[in-house]
Amino acid sequence: MVNKEFYLSITEELKANDVSLVAVSKIKPASDIKTLYELGQRDFGENYVQEMTEKAALLPADIRWHFIGHLQSNKVKYIVPFVYMIHGVDSFKLLGEINRQAVKHNRSVRCLLQVHIAEEETKFGLDEKEVIDLLEFYTAQKEQLGNVLICGLMGMSSFSEDMDKVRAEFRKLKTIFEVIRKTYFLGDEYFSILSMGMSGDYRIAIEEGSNMVRIGSLLFGKRA
Ligand SMILES: *Cc1c(COP(=O)(O)O)cnc(C)c1O
Repeated sequence: MVNKEFYLSITEELKANDVSLVAVSKIKPASDIKTLYELGQRDFGENYVQEMTEKAALLPADIRWHFIGHLQSNKVKYIVPFVYMIHGVDSFKLLGEINRQAVKHNRSVRCLLQVHIAEEETKFGLDEKEVIDLLEFYTAQKEQLGNVLICGLMGMSSFSEDMDKVRAEFRKLKTIFEVIRKTYFLGDEYFSILSMGMSGDYRIAIEEGSNMVRIGSLLFGKRA
């Protein structure tokens, strides 16, 4: 069930803060996406390659599809023809493959580097040093990577009730974002997005400097 009232109120709230909304529609039917589309929403986030590809084929072409899940290099080719932004770039290999496919399709693909800020162990996301290493590689080979646009960073906080901890993690990511912007992207018009905040923590994320939130369950209801 789509919560239209919540959508209308959060779009006002986000507009006042200059924050954009990615409506996370994973596992939800295309008809739910259509409902929000008709209210004006254009940015939708999906976690699974096949699901996103199938939905994109059914839905209006002006939807901006954000891939927010973990992306394997061998699946990049399926989404590059239409994806708007890939939030989870966490290796140089993946960035190279996105570029290679983007060249093939003669388009540019927006990417966010995923930074691991949460306490939980996961193999996804780069730590602070790894982001810097990736950017050193990237900077050295920028000419050969002309079809990827690095637009910012994405991060997820710990799955925790401790909101002070969540806040500290977001604050850390904001600091990393500013350092990277100054060091690698001075004067770059694209590097501007800090994607952090989900249903449970988006207000804290905004207070800590997020300018793009990814919200699923508050809009579409709990996922099965
Ligand atoms: C599922 C998901 C979201 C949305 O989560 P909600 O808690 O339902 O708002 C946001 N970001 C990522 C990366 C996700 O996988």
